[in-house]
Amino acid sequence: MEANVKASLPQTKRTAENTQKRLDLGEHAELIAAIVSGIIILAAWIFKNEVSYSFWITLNLAAFAIGGYAKAKEGITETIEHKELNVELLMFLAAIGSAAIGYWTEGALLIFIFSLSGALETYTMNKSNKEISSLMELQPEQALRINDGIEKIVPVAELKVGDIIFVRASERIPADGVITRGLSNVDESAIRGETSIDESAITGESVPASKGIDQEVFAGTVALDGSLTVKITKSANETLFQKIIQMVQSAQEEKSPSQLFIERFEGAYVKTVLAVVILMMFLPYFLLDWSFTHSVYRAMILLVVASPCALVASIMPATLSAVSNSAKRGILFKGGVHLENLSQVKAIAFDKTGTLTNGKPVVTDVHITEGFNKEEIISIVGAIEKESTHPLAKAITAYALNNEDGTIPEVHNMNTISGNGVQATVDGVQWKVGKANFIGSIESLMYKDGMAKKLAEQGKTVVFAKRNEQIVALFALKDTIRKDTVKAIKTLKAHGIKTFMLTGDNEVTARAIAEETGIDSYIAECLPNDKVNHVKELRKQYNNVAMIGDGINDAPALATANLGIAMGEGTDVALETADVVLMRDELSKLPNAIQLSARMNRIVKQNIFFSLTVITALIASNFFQAIDLPLGVIGHEGSTILVILNGLRLLK
Ligand SMILES: [Mg+2]
Repeated sequence: MEANVKASLPQTKRTAENTQKRLDLGEHAELIAAIVSGIIILAAWIFKNEVSYSFWITLNLAAFAIGGYAKAKEGITETIEHKELNVELLMFLAAIGSAAIGYWTEGALLIFIFSLSGALETYTMNKSNKEISSLMELQPEQALRINDGIEKIVPVAELKVGDIIFVRASERIPADGVITRGLSNVDESAIRGETSIDESAITGESVPASKGIDQEVFAGTVALDGSLTVKITKSANETLFQKIIQMVQSAQEEKSPSQLFIERFEGAYVKTVLAVVILMMFLPYFLLDWSFTHSVYRAMILLVVASPCALVASIMPATLSAVSNSAKRGILFKGGVHLENLSQVKAIAFDKTGTLTNGKPVVTDVHITEGFNKEEIISIVGAIEKESTHPLAKAITAYALNNEDGTIPEVHNMNTISGNGVQATVDGVQWKVGKANFIGSIESLMYKDGMAKKLAEQGKTVVFAKRNEQIVALFALKDTIRKDTVKAIKTLKAHGIKTFMLTGDNEVTARAIAEETGIDSYIAECLPNDKVNHVKELRKQYNNVAMIGDGINDAPALATANLGIAMGEGTDVALETADVVLMRDELSKLPNAIQLSARMNRIVKQNIFFSLTVITALIASNFFQAIDLPLGVIGHEGSTILVILNGLRLLK
């Protein structure tokens, strides 16, 4: 059992890496093959009169084989697998057909164009396989179980409800449960059993939560500064974290409706063309008094002009150009289909922390007790907090760097009280920096006429500094919104897109940020599955919904939305699950991307309309015997080149 659990993880990773390698190689191999076949065709065309006929045929056969191998193989395997005809097969037959009636160059050209567009397709295809390997990595595999005083390392899967486990400081908690007793060997926290827990995996909040005895802890979260004993309340496959994994997995198995439609359309189109070609081979011979050779010749022209080269080329180069254009601007689309979808989006759900906001608290207010020197106090508190890795402490240190008086006080006897704050001696004086309970609840509540309460109502976190037995300073901290958030929300709303905020944070902070950003509406205290449910609701109401987030807790919602967008600075899990990545965290670039998407869809529509018109015209003139094969091929390839050029406009 233990061996099983251990082995399964690296194996998933290895398979993922192998797939990636095969993909990389495949991409280039296809493109190289297409280009080589193109060069051979050109050579055969230029030197047609200089070489022997049999050598010329060999050259063309080589172009057929090199250019067509990948696509022919794909066409045949897919036909067998899905029992459905496809465009690959049609092109392949058309090329063979035109060679069969002696038009080798035309057949080879068909293969070249098709293999080239196929290679381009490989570049733009949906690369978001939604690997969730980094999500799996976050799940601890083993736990230290203490049942009846016997310590044993066991696989997480073997833990049962009621088991007691021991979690060391800075370890990821392996199961959902309640804290029974803190074992931290440092002073008071041992008695109170409190510790800071990084719950960002579940809530997306960067500021750790402080938890004590009888409070719930979740698998995937990290005990930061104190060791814990935890009594398990849920079996390993029912933890909140396990649900995140399951939600991401199940969401990604759904296929987009447009994808299904195209697949069905493709099969029907190919079937119709092949049926008409077969009719064309025989009917005119029997009904219209055509010779059999002539009937077959016309049928082959039909096969060539009806093979949808231009139709295939209508989408790929345009998509590739638009994807690379937007990548230059810092927005990475993992597949053309996502760029196509973006302009259809009617509502966007935003995560709060790290998405609308910077994700890190900064000092917004400082109050110093009268009679003390502000710069000196800030210097001392900054120096004490410098020793701590807590995000609030880091923010205060950063603030102090810009506001202190330049003296660097020496800090001694520094002590972190898990989940509360720090204490230290500076110049022989005892200092405490931390939250209200740690400093003294009543004094801190009374400080400056209840200043702390007012600040908390604004969604701010309050930290006190106490010198001996007197509070000397109050720092209020807040996760501030990104500098382009307001502008981005405003522009999106102007585009008629509804904006929502789904946050794991509390009501007070959520309301404050919602007001500040101008977002249409918000929902607070969302667990990962709440985010999923709200996104599903929005999908019902608005049809096409995007979700933007950065955290592990956002991953299921990102996978559930029609379009998942991750912030570039976000967690690996969010980056892997999303369809789109905002590389530079610039929300304000989103409206531009929406415009690009609309432009791309317009150009693709033009292309499709144009190529369908040309195909129809060519088919019609073939029926009326107005064109022969070379002209048919010219019309066919000419329209293909035109739609490619039209698509390349999206590079700008
Ligand atoms: Mg977040």
